[in-house]
Amino acid sequence: MNSNNENIIQISEDCKLIVPDNPVIPFIEGDGVGPEVTSSMIKIVNHSVSETYNKKRSINWLEVFAGEKANKIFKKDIWLPQETLDAISKYKIAIKGPLMTPTGGGQRSLNVRLRQKLDLYVCQRPIKWFEGVPSPVITPQAVNMIVFRENSEDIYSGIEWPHDSNDVKKVIHFLKNEMGVENIIDSDNCGIGIKNMSSLGSKRLIKAAIEYAIEHDRSSVTVVHKGNIMKFTEGAFLNWGIDLILKKYHGFFDEKNKCYKFKNPNNEKDIIFKDCICDAFLQNILLKPKDYDVIATTNLNGDYVSDSLAACVGGIGISPGANINYTTGEAVFEATHGTAPDIAGENIVNPSSLILSAEMMLRYLGWNEAANNIMNAIEKVIKQKTVTADFAYQMENATLCSCSEFTDLIIEKI
Ligand code: NAD
Repeated sequence: MNSNNENIIQISEDCKLIVPDNPVIPFIEGDGVGPEVTSSMIKIVNHSVSETYNKKRSINWLEVFAGEKANKIFKKDIWLPQETLDAISKYKIAIKGPLMTPTGGGQRSLNVRLRQKLDLYVCQRPIKWFEGVPSPVITPQAVNMIVFRENSEDIYSGIEWPHDSNDVKKVIHFLKNEMGVENIIDSDNCGIGIKNMSSLGSKRLIKAAIEYAIEHDRSSVTVVHKGNIMKFTEGAFLNWGIDLILKKYHGFFDEKNKCYKFKNPNNEKDIIFKDCICDAFLQNILLKPKDYDVIATTNLNGDYVSDSLAACVGGIGISPGANINYTTGEAVFEATHGTAPDIAGENIVNPSSLILSAEMMLRYLGWNEAANNIMNAIEKVIKQKTVTADFAYQMENATLCSCSEFTDLIIEKI
């Protein structure tokens, strides 16, 4: 790696990335199938960047450690070293393979810790069908959404106490005696978790979704929530979104169509701002997916919604993802599947999720031409039905290929 200050991505005062031609990008290889998908992704990105920009641009990959590899190297029961967090903060953008969540010892998910430590408050998941990919729905081509899931608050904050702890007794005592709560059943054996949702956390997430819709000329933003039941958290999330639309984006309520609208300042077209209750949304994505475009949702809902939508277009093997802080510019792009220990080391894993996450990363860097070349190549390879085992067994007349053969085919098509 060739690292000097010239190769470090900077953020301008108006929060725009300033990307040098040879930026240092840290990567976490990941556990299980991590080394296989990471090696595939790096080969494809290097080839696309080099071909697209005639060798004028390249990425200086810097390996940083997390998960099992960190634990082996640091030998101190360290799964997410401070050095890794510092490197991502310094170089701003990183990409990671899947990380195993160690069981036992109270170890929390490394992915959740990484998002929280770097305050990567948006989990962005584009959901689009590639022609030929086996899907359980009849019209997967109608699914074309991008999910903005709130990443830093909600019941996932980790503010919780086990049922048999002294702390939970204190919390329950407070709730009963100070707050007049009467409906905790079996209070001697009851765990408690806190669902916290703030104006800051909600508005910055919804703003990111709105800005995306403006920049990419999308037709609507839908807030997905359970505000009918959880009024002061999920309901407030929607209300803060409406507040943002009315005050910051000069939106208005369209009486005829019963929805809010605001103008895209780039082309004066109306963008619809609507909401949907999460359980209805999970039906609607199967029944009328065309009604939805950009989605802004809370942390827990977003977890369910992202994977359910991913299933509509072929599953997590092909779904990319990114965790982004639009204020600091820091972002970690990642495979959305797990470590797949049952197939690790066999060269049969589908590397598409991490490749498409890298495609998102190149777009985030503003290297759209290199991203387009990867996207076109992967579309062509899948369309010609030369695919890894997860897809091949569900496609008619498919040709089975290994992870490395699939990688070489994409490189050939770039
Ligand atoms: P998993 O995604 O690893 O595997 C589920 C099933 O899908 C397995 O049969 C696997 O072989 C298959 N699969 C997954 N990705 C595939 C791919 N790219 N190509 C072909 N087949 C693929 O989920 P899991 O088994 O529940 O979790 C295993 C480990 O991964 C756990 O430790 C979990 O905590 C971790 N995990 C990490 C992430 C992440 O780092 N983002 C996400 C989910 C799970």
